[in-house]
This record gives sequence, structure tokens and C-alpha cells, in this order.
Amino acid sequence: MSTPQDPNVREQPAVAATGSNRETILSTKGLTKKFGGLTAVDNVDFSVDEGELRCLIGPNGAGKSTLLELITGQLTPTDGEIYFDGTDLGELEPHERMDAGISVKFQSPHIYESLTVEQNLHVPLQRTSRDIEPVMERTLDRIALTEKADEPASDLSHGEKQRLEIGMAITLDPKFMILDEPVAGMSIDETGDIADLIQSLHDDGMTFLVVEHDMEFVRKISERVTVLSQGSILEQGPIEEIENDEQVRRIYLGENA
Ligand code: ADP
Ligand code: MG
Repeated sequence: MSTPQDPNVREQPAVAATGSNRETILSTKGLTKKFGGLTAVDNVDFSVDEGELRCLIGPNGAGKSTLLELITGQLTPTDGEIYFDGTDLGELEPHERMDAGISVKFQSPHIYESLTVEQNLHVPLQRTSRDIEPVMERTLDRIALTEKADEPASDLSHGEKQRLEIGMAITLDPKFMILDEPVAGMSIDETGDIADLIQSLHDDGMTFLVVEHDMEFVRKISERVTVLSQGSILEQGPIEEIENDEQVRRIYLGENA
């Protein structure tokens, strides 16, 4: 991986993707977001290692989307800090966070229905001076939409639209990819395609933070899982541990223990 190096950021040592002493790429400290009297994110200390594929789960209203939107800068914290790759994100606007290597696919769709697949992929590329042709070719291939490059996005299936949206998010080669419920409403086959796409990007070194309810999917892709409940971290660990944790089962997986 070659990334432009900020002279103020220390060089990251090369570590194996599966090594235990990976560097932290993202961390929050005392992160809090209140909406009036409601504390959606409550004094959260959270971190993700470089090269990791982390899943974030939790019941509806737990604060998952709010946490993601604080990281991308769509929301401003009431209190606390977020650091990414050695930088305090509090100083940066959303577009500057994108330039720093954070990319996101939000829960609600953000594609342009009247544009073709290729035109949609051009949208984020307008911001760069790099040679667009190879990026376009590689992205279309990755999201398996080469054959449909000239079709309007409105003609795509739900699964294809989600792949296109992930494609838009990866054109700029982000270091850190945030996905909010990428397989909601998808068929089993469509879900499998997204899992494969995420795995292959992860194999190439991309770090992921994925919010998802589909436990089959989480089991398939995740290394570690963080459970959020009422704005706080309830539990964190490998998926097998999380699924067997009594408190998690009671609160999230809907068991009456
Ligand atoms: P999740 O994504 O885990 O389902 P959210 O982060 O969307 O949860 O929401 C967490 C809590 O914050 C919920 O109670 C929700 O109603 C509330 N909330 C989220 N966004 C806003 C907002 N813009 N204004 C007021 N309350 C909000
Ligand atoms: Mg949400």
C-alpha cells in the first residue's frame, strides 16, 4: 500500500494483517452525543485497529448510526474526541475527513437514479486529479457491474444498487470504510455478494467498520464485534464469544435468560 504521507504523522510500521499488535487507526475518547435530553452516544471509548474488519451491532436506537455520523462529521459531538491516523478529527470538515481516508456508505441510499452506473462512479472522482479510466475499470470489475456500466441506476436491482454505492465509496481508495447496514432488505444471494466484496477489499488491506443486524452476515465477515446498547459499549470480542454472552443474548439477541 502506498499512501501520501503527512510529514506530521509518524510512519506506521508494517505489520501482518492478522498480527496481534496492529496499530490503532481510529479511536474515540469520552465521545458523547446528546439530542436534547436524550444521550444517543454516552461517553464512548472505542477503537479500531488498522486492517481490521469490525462489526458494530446493537438494538434499534442503540446509537450505532449516531456513532458513525460523529466519525464522518455529519454530526458534531456534545463532548469527547475522535482521532484518525494520528489526527484529531474535531478540526476537520466532513470532506476533509474523506480526504484523510474515511469513506462511508450511509443507511439511506445516496445514488443518482437518473445517471448511469458509470456516471454515478464519476461523481466522487470529480474531486481528484488522478487518471480516471483505470479506477473506473477496476471499480466496475470489483462491484461486478461492468456489463451494466451504461445502464441507468434506476434499472438496477436492490443488491446492485448497494454494490454501486459501495463502488462510489471505494473509488478514492479509502483507508477506512464505514458501512451502515449494507445488506438490509437483501436476498441471501445478494447478501453473499456483498460479503464477498467486503472480504476481498479487506484482503487488500482496507479497514472496515460495519453496522449490521443480519447475524449470519456478521458471523461470515467479522473478526471482532462491538455491541452497543443505550449509547454505551456493552461487550466486545470475537463473534463466538459475543453470541454466547448471556447479557448480549438477553439484550440484543432477544432471549429471555
Ligand atoms: P441505531 O442506528 O443504533 O438504530 P441511532 O443512532 O439512529 O440508533 O439513534 C440513537 C438514538 O438517538 C435514538 O433514540 C434516536 O431516536 C435518537 N436520534 C438519532 N438521531 C437523532 C436526531 N437527529 N435528533 C434527535 N434524536 C435522534
Ligand atoms: Mg441506524
